[in-house]
Amino acid sequence: MQLLVAMAVATTAACTKGTDAAAPAKSESPATTPVPPEAAAPDNAPPPHIDSKRAFRYTAEVTAFGPRYMGSENHKKLEHYILDHLKGDQVEDDAFTADTVEGKFPVRNIIAKFPGTKDGIIVILGHYDTVYPLRNSGFVGANDGGSSTAILLEYANQLRGKKRDGYSVWLVWTDGEEAVRQWTNTDSVYGARHLAEKWEKDGTLKKIKALMVMDMIADADLDIVRDTNSTPSLLDLIYAAAERLGYQSHFYASQGPIADDHLPFVKRGVPSADVIDLDYGYNNVFHHTPQDTMDKLSPKSLEIVGDTILETIHMLDQR
Ligand SMILES: [Zn+2]
Repeated sequence: MQLLVAMAVATTAACTKGTDAAAPAKSESPATTPVPPEAAAPDNAPPPHIDSKRAFRYTAEVTAFGPRYMGSENHKKLEHYILDHLKGDQVEDDAFTADTVEGKFPVRNIIAKFPGTKDGIIVILGHYDTVYPLRNSGFVGANDGGSSTAILLEYANQLRGKKRDGYSVWLVWTDGEEAVRQWTNTDSVYGARHLAEKWEKDGTLKKIKALMVMDMIADADLDIVRDTNSTPSLLDLIYAAAERLGYQSHFYASQGPIADDHLPFVKRGVPSADVIDLDYGYNNVFHHTPQDTMDKLSPKSLEIVGDTILETIHMLDQR
C-alpha cells in the first residue's frame, strides 16, 4: 500500500456531516408503506463480536513464519496455514504467474465463499504477502500482512456454519499486494489486478454490492484514515457502523489518497473502501521496517475494526 501525498487533517465536523448524510433514514419511510420486519432487524440484532484474542493469536502465528514474500518457502507455508483454517469451507484459487521487474513470481489469491440468501456479493480483501525488497531486512510484517491475514481468518470463523440472511460474503486473501521493487501502477497489487480483470470478464463485478480492504488494522494506536480514493458513501456507512458500536473516534481523523488492493476495483466502478491505519508509529516510522512487530499491536484494534466491518456487512444486508 502507498500513500500518494501527505495526508491532510480533516476536521471532525466534516466527518460527522458526511456520516449524518449517509445515515439510514428509516423513520422517514412513508406511513403508507409499512417497514417489513426484516428491515427493522438491525435495531434488535445484537452487535457483532469477533474473538479478538483468537484473531491476535492468528496474527502472531502468521508473523512467526517470518518474511512471506511472493515465491518464498514461508509464503508456501502460509498458504497451507490459511487453507488448513478453511477446511470444509467453499474455497477457490485464483493462481497465475506475474511477470515483474524482478522476474516471474507465482501469485495465488485464496477465496472463501459464504453464500447468502440475497442476490449480490460483499467482498472483503486482505493481503497476506510481505514486502519482497525487504526480504533480507528482518521485516516480518506483523501489522502489514499479518493483521489482514488474521482478521479474514476470524471473519471466516464468524461466517462459518451460520445461515446468511443477507448477501453472500466472499473473503479474499490477496497475494502480491506489495511492490517487488518500487510502487508504481504496474509494480503493485498483482493479485487484486488479476482478480478484478477476471471478475470483470466473468460478470462477477456487477454482483458486488461492496468491497472492503483490510490493511494494517492492528496498530495499538488505531486511527483509520479516510481514503479519498475510496467510495465516499461506503466510507460513510463504515463510519455509521463504527458510531453504532461507539468506535467512531478511531475513524477518519485524517484523510488522504491511498493506493491499495481496492484500486483495480474502484477503477471498474465497484463500490470500494480501503480500511487502513497509515499512521503506524510516530510519523508512520514502523511502516515497512523491521519494527513492524507484534509488540506494536493490540487485540482491541482487531476487535474495533473486526466488529465495525461485521456491523457494516449487517447494515448492507438490510438494503
Ligand atoms: Zn505494505
